[in-house]
Amino acid sequence: MTYDKNNIFAKILRGELPCKKVYENDFVLAFYDINPQKKIHVIVIPKGEYIDLDHFIQNAKDIEIIEFNKAILNIVKKLKISSKDNGYRVLSNIGIDGGQEVPHLHYHIFGGQNIGKMVV
Ligand code: AMP
Repeated sequence: MTYDKNNIFAKILRGELPCKKVYENDFVLAFYDINPQKKIHVIVIPKGEYIDLDHFIQNAKDIEIIEFNKAILNIVKKLKISSKDNGYRVLSNIGIDGGQEVPHLHYHIFGGQNIGKMVV
């Protein structure tokens, strides 16, 4: 599978589609999900062209992998949902059985309320 440069998140990264930005650095962009499933629902994406977590781990530079994960803490602190607050959930859908719709790697961050059971 090759990376589809016309996926929605690629368009957001190029500024061709708007987003409600939460956080950005040289490696990562985070924005509110357009169809939130919980009180707080944020999407976190690497700026590089990676389809999913497998593709990312196999192809990204170490600094990209480190920065992508470190960004989570900055984002949840900014949203006041870190482990020092009430906490949150991180989730990444991968492939067909994972239910991935947008083929650019993303983490979902859920919080702001009790998230409930892990899988429903
Ligand atoms: P997934 O099923 O893991 O690929 O999730 C894709 C997510 O992207 C869904 O939660 C959508 O609501 C969200 N989404 C789709 N288009 C946009 C957009 N333009 N801005 C923000 N979130 C979006």
